[in-house]
Amino acid sequence: MVDQWTGAEPTQLYFSAFRQSANGMAFFSEEGLFLRVNPAFGRQIGYPEEALNGMPWEPVVHPDDRKQIHRMLEDAANGTFGSHPFEARLIRCDGTLVPCSVTAPVVPRPERWPASLFVQIMKSDGESRFAAPAPGRETTRETDGAGSDSLYRTLVEQSTDVVSMQDLSGRILYISPSCRVLLGYEPEELIGTIAYDLFHPEDLTKIPGITSPVETAPELPLFSYRIRRKSGSYVWFETSGRLIENERDPENGQTVISISRDISSRKQTEQQLMKTNELLQKISSIDALTGLANRRFFDERFAKEWRHAMRFTTPLSVILLDIDYFKRYNDTYGHQDGDACLQYVAEAMRRAAKRPGDMIARYGGEEFVIVLPVTDSQGALYVAERMRSEVEGLRIPHRGSAVSSFVTASLGVATMIPARNVSPRELIIRADKALYRAKQEGRNQAIAYCDE
Ligand code: GH3
Ligand code: MG
Ligand code: MG
Repeated sequence: MVDQWTGAEPTQLYFSAFRQSANGMAFFSEEGLFLRVNPAFGRQIGYPEEALNGMPWEPVVHPDDRKQIHRMLEDAANGTFGSHPFEARLIRCDGTLVPCSVTAPVVPRPERWPASLFVQIMKSDGESRFAAPAPGRETTRETDGAGSDSLYRTLVEQSTDVVSMQDLSGRILYISPSCRVLLGYEPEELIGTIAYDLFHPEDLTKIPGITSPVETAPELPLFSYRIRRKSGSYVWFETSGRLIENERDPENGQTVISISRDISSRKQTEQQLMKTNELLQKISSIDALTGLANRRFFDERFAKEWRHAMRFTTPLSVILLDIDYFKRYNDTYGHQDGDACLQYVAEAMRRAAKRPGDMIARYGGEEFVIVLPVTDSQGALYVAERMRSEVEGLRIPHRGSAVSSFVTASLGVATMIPARNVSPRELIIRADKALYRAKQEGRNQAIAYCDE
């Protein structure tokens, strides 16, 4: 039997759609068994598909919902079609519940098939959406009373996903009725048109096979893109496809069967999340690479510590730490190893400054700053020397260094009792001068600022 639109054997179309769909779908038979389940159904309730086919369905249905399913099955056995969809709960292997819709097939039952119900696991957002078949049309068009085809067809036509068949140029040969709900077009309006004409221009390059040759494997990679609705607005679709050899009609060559779902709400959430993350990063006080305080947080805290030390006339110390020959480290080992090295150094510094009031911040690049409240010059130099030795003790190989075969750091220390007529910047400037001297005098050392 050949399909009136596509000229292809429809079993292949419908069966392939059933197998490929990301929607969990199953048939429950009147004998109480799973007649057919698709791989997504197995995944979504946590059992392998092979374990379900032919097994009783009752154990995976919530006890309160079983009666109604049996009643619907009786109706289906008596030839009453098109009962109202009903929401039931399936029990996952971990005991949690997942909602599903239960529908009676709208087509007459093929001869060899027992009465059955079509069960579809709901979208994850819990929405109950049924692509309602147009009254009467699909039922009367059905001609195949002998095979399983009519059942898979029911499934395709009742699915909330859009199932379509295109030739390799994108010409639509078949599209399922859910395109009414998702795109606002009647199937007839789309058949014969080029699917890619509805794509957002920026997303055309995402079509598998457009920018790189399609793999020989029949499964095409999953891709997402924006598609234009009849109203002109765009929705996000995610499509999986499969290449089908048209054996009966080699002239027409290959066709692609695709299943597309609306992922607009997921995309929206993703975009919102990205914006929130960017915002968080901006207002964050943490340096993403090292987990230390960032420069912004340092500036705030340092100003507070300065005021505090001024009020109580206590010494405030600052240490600047700069890794030796770090440019050469990056050149030798690569930027990624460079970043990892910064993380180790940050850890070493944490081990050396243990007082609750001490603050270590990433000052920029491979420079760190440590603020030590109520700490005099001697104490600060002691902490700086401990940091120097912790860094050296990491024994991170550094071929490019001229002072050691391991990574080392130079440190500059400055201490002041803040006074009203002095800018807090002065303390940093002094620490920087001391650091400069530490570099000049051979690196891998801590030097305290002194006034000459
Ligand atoms: P010196 O001993 O005089 O300090 O030599 P140096 O090579 O370390 O000189 P300088 O401090 O001027 O070099 C800074 C280098 O640190 C430049 C850059 O390659 C590296 N760097 C800065 N920030 C980062 C970072 O976030 N990640 C990595 N991997 N490298 C960084
Ligand atoms: Mg530097
Ligand atoms: Mg350096």
